[in-house]
Amino acid sequence: MNTQAAIVEGTGKYVIENYGRLPMAAARGQGALLWDADGKEFIDLFPGFGAGGVCGHCHPAISDAVKAQADTLLSHGNLFTNEPQVDLAKRITENAFGGKVFYCHSGAEANEAALKLVRLAAGEGRYKIISFNNCFHGRTMGGLSLTPEGFQKGFEPMLPGNVKVDIGDLDAVAAEIDDETAGVIIEPIQAEGGVNVPSVEFMQGLRKLCDDNNLLLVCDEVWTSPARTGKWFAYQHFGIEPDVMTLAKAIGGGLPVGVCVAGPKCADVLVPGTHGCTMGGNPLCAAAGAAAMKLIEDENLLDRAIHIGQRVADAINGAGIEGVLEIRGKGALVGVQLDDSIQAKDVMLACMEKGLIICIAKNNVLRVAPALTTEDSVLDKGLAILVDVMRG
Ligand SMILES: *Cc1c(COP(=O)(O)O)cnc(C)c1O
Repeated sequence: MNTQAAIVEGTGKYVIENYGRLPMAAARGQGALLWDADGKEFIDLFPGFGAGGVCGHCHPAISDAVKAQADTLLSHGNLFTNEPQVDLAKRITENAFGGKVFYCHSGAEANEAALKLVRLAAGEGRYKIISFNNCFHGRTMGGLSLTPEGFQKGFEPMLPGNVKVDIGDLDAVAAEIDDETAGVIIEPIQAEGGVNVPSVEFMQGLRKLCDDNNLLLVCDEVWTSPARTGKWFAYQHFGIEPDVMTLAKAIGGGLPVGVCVAGPKCADVLVPGTHGCTMGGNPLCAAAGAAAMKLIEDENLLDRAIHIGQRVADAINGAGIEGVLEIRGKGALVGVQLDDSIQAKDVMLACMEKGLIICIAKNNVLRVAPALTTEDSVLDKGLAILVDVMRG
């Protein structure tokens, strides 16, 4: 195997540098541990940037399902169906709000499907979608159109008619609704935008506004589901149901799966010829996703998410660190708001030095989102490093 330096150098030479990556090559993972290509061990409290969310690295329940499927059939296109995609769809819809799913491979693609579905359902002349400041809905032209201007620079013009308002401001939402509005898209908790949790009143008011104006409400749950926040899906914290929900990141158990879930009201909007994805619902990725959903149920990972989030918050609160303004989030999606005296990016890099992986979000927020299978002993070891680094 090549040294880490050689792999990093090869990356710079052959792979487009659109990420601002750290000079590390990931080589192997087990549970909450990750090793780089030189064998250095990390405690990973941010597995897969959300995509390793549920089960940690190489959980045997996932690996076994993938191995078995890999020896059976990898993909076959959408002239046919397969059992794993039915299994995963059943587990998603039965734990959510019924309806049916469309499969693709990423969050951006899932949101594209949702956008097309919303426009088609709304009918001719209604095309505007309302989204929220500090949101993130993906990098494709549609997702980008819904996302704040900073991400759009150089790629204009965007899709027409997309407006953004502040979370919490129902009057602003109402003011933007006109005859051309088709729907509203919101993350039940904004993850990239700084781990921002809306109020129950706001979410319920938004639901009512959509009902009163015949708009479809889309929840982008790409970061927040499944199980991450202590519920199967994060909208379930707010006593509402969306009409459409998009999933990706952790829903594939570590493999690329994107899902657009359409509730009973709009499950039959996308008919043959309106949308598609050649490899969507392929049995390999679907089998991994279904195994992850089964694991959540078998190991009661919803409760585990709450326990882990509490333990993270307790450790940071207990350390009484100056510069911590607020700890927020739900379940095992934890954001730590820092003041100007500590830079989140510096904390993240210093943690890496000491063998701990965490991440940051917009506006000087630290983000911790451990796998829901992380043992307390490993979690505590990681949190000790974090607290130590934050003390400076
Ligand atoms: C990551 C993310 C996306 C985009 O997902 P990709 O798989 O990177 O395309 C969309 N919405 C939210 C809320 C996300 O966190």
